[in-house]
Amino acid sequence: MKAAVLEDIGKISIKEMEKPKPGPGEVLIKIEYVGICGSDVHYYEHGRIGDFVVESPLVLGHECSGTIVGTGADVTGLFVGDRVVPEPGYACNKCEFCKSGRYNLCDGMTFMATPPVDGAFCEYIAYPADMTFKLPDNVSLVEGALIEPLAIGIYAAHRGKVFPGSKVLVQGAGCIGLVTMLACRAFGATEVTITDVLENRLQAALKLGADNIINSRKAAILPDSVDIAIDCVGIETTVNGSIDVVKKGGKVVLVGMGGDDRVPVNLNRAIGKEIDFATIFRYRNIFPTALKMVSDGKIDINGIVSHTFDFSEIGKAMEFVMNNKNEVVKAVIKL
Ligand SMILES: [Zn+2]
Ligand SMILES: [Zn+2]
Repeated sequence: MKAAVLEDIGKISIKEMEKPKPGPGEVLIKIEYVGICGSDVHYYEHGRIGDFVVESPLVLGHECSGTIVGTGADVTGLFVGDRVVPEPGYACNKCEFCKSGRYNLCDGMTFMATPPVDGAFCEYIAYPADMTFKLPDNVSLVEGALIEPLAIGIYAAHRGKVFPGSKVLVQGAGCIGLVTMLACRAFGATEVTITDVLENRLQAALKLGADNIINSRKAAILPDSVDIAIDCVGIETTVNGSIDVVKKGGKVVLVGMGGDDRVPVNLNRAIGKEIDFATIFRYRNIFPTALKMVSDGKIDINGIVSHTFDFSEIGKAMEFVMNNKNEVVKAVIKL
């Protein structure tokens, strides 16, 4: 099979790799669409994200959808021909975090496109059936590839306890900010304001249903004006901005990991307002909810994709996404 391999910083080549065989409990998935995530671009550009370092050739891509073309032993409920979306990580199922249902915190997590685990920019993957979800008939394969980022948005809204009538601020209008905004809407938020410094992203947010957009280069947000602030950026100005705009007793949800590990925060203001902080790391137990919400029409994610590239153009696609952040909202690769 063909796979796009990150061989060095800034170098992706399509190579022949052995086609995987589904083991017991696994399905063989023919990949159809894969989204290009910020993390893929980061590995391509820098060869690392924090402690995760690319030390040997790696297949990127984890936001994928596909069709089942084979099943291993002991697979029930999934069949050849099913259109599916694999949740890109599977855990050990043995540790205290797994046993308490918080499998996203498992130290034994095997997560696609996180070194040294290969991802989905390839023709086939063999994957655990219990982490592979069938697409409802009315959900397309392109939408399927967006379920992973959407799961983050839904989890962020869930952790922020967004309620009917809440006023929410979302910092950052990249893919994650946009899906977070959509999730807050679906959770009943009546006013969602979204910030960014890139005008194309703000315009995309407006089209997708944001009530207010704020270009944070040009304007500030009113202090004490929202119930929940969800930070999908993670830098000093956005984290402190979130603390400023949240009402007393409100919530700040930290989603985005910015470039710096240590971010100076106005802690005294946060304490003085009795703000509740929450963070999220990926998601857990959200894919079925995300698929149902899309299928039921509660969330329309079709407007997220701004660019589609053919698999053969993947190198060009990575360069394009890296160099045109003011143009790209979400790029997907069609296999
Ligand atoms: Zn992603
Ligand atoms: Zn575990």
